[in-house]
Formats: sequence, C-alpha cells, structure tokens
Amino acid sequence: MNREEILQLRGIAPTAMRLLVLDELKKADTAISLADLETSMERADKVTIYRTLKTFEKHKLVHSIDDGSGSVKYALCAAECECRPQDVHAHFHCNHCNGTYCLTEYHLPQIQLPEKFLLKGISMVFNGLCDRCAGL
Ligand SMILES: [Zn+2]
Ligand SMILES: [Zn+2]
Repeated sequence: MNREEILQLRGIAPTAMRLLVLDELKKADTAISLADLETSMERADKVTIYRTLKTFEKHKLVHSIDDGSGSVKYALCAAECECRPQDVHAHFHCNHCNGTYCLTEYHLPQIQLPEKFLLKGISMVFNGLCDRCAGL
C-alpha cells in the first residue's frame, strides 16, 4: 500500500504535509511527540503539524499515548485498528532513551464500570529499559 492509499483508506485527503508527517511516523520505531516532529521537520510550522496529528487521530490513523513523560506521543495504528476499547494495547516507556513502544500483542482488560460511569479511554504503560538501553 502506498502512502496515498494509507491516508485514503482512513478517509483522509492526501496533502503534502500529511504525507510528510505519515513518512515520519512510518520511519520511527517508537511513538513520537509533536516536539520530535518539529525537530525532524525543520521547515514545517508547529501548528500545522499539530493539526495534522489531530486529523490523523480523529480518523484513527494514529493513537496518542500519555506515557507519563509529560509530552503526548503518537504512533500509527495497525491497519485493522478502530481504536475501540478492545483494540487498545499496552505501551512500554524506556526510562533511559525516553522511547515509547507499542505492545500491540497486549490488549487491555475489559472491565465492568460502576453504573452511569462512561468510559472515554484506557491506558496502561509499563516502564523500564528497552532492548537497546538494557544492553548498555
Ligand atoms: Zn531505551
Ligand atoms: Zn500503541
């Protein structure tokens, strides 16, 4: 699947900026923050990058992760992901390199909420050292 098709499949019109941000997300093997994108896309405007991420999130092309590091990070969703509670997976945050990884194999448990509670999101973040940092 080429980049245009990836966007179109999620109902996102491909623009030059969207294709660039998609490239950056595909290149990264960890989740990336707005600040990371700003650094790697020097000439792009921060607000435009932010809006692009929000568009991607709305169309379920990316999911956001609050890993406790203070900045929200974004990672591409798997092709079949609809970001439903049952699609959500755990994440791993490396305390050394600050990298955040998707643990797509590990789905989060479904729980019975108290009456009238409304679920809006779930997250589970493990932390420690990633494979690269653990060997240092
Ligand atoms: Zn690491
Ligand atoms: Zn993830």
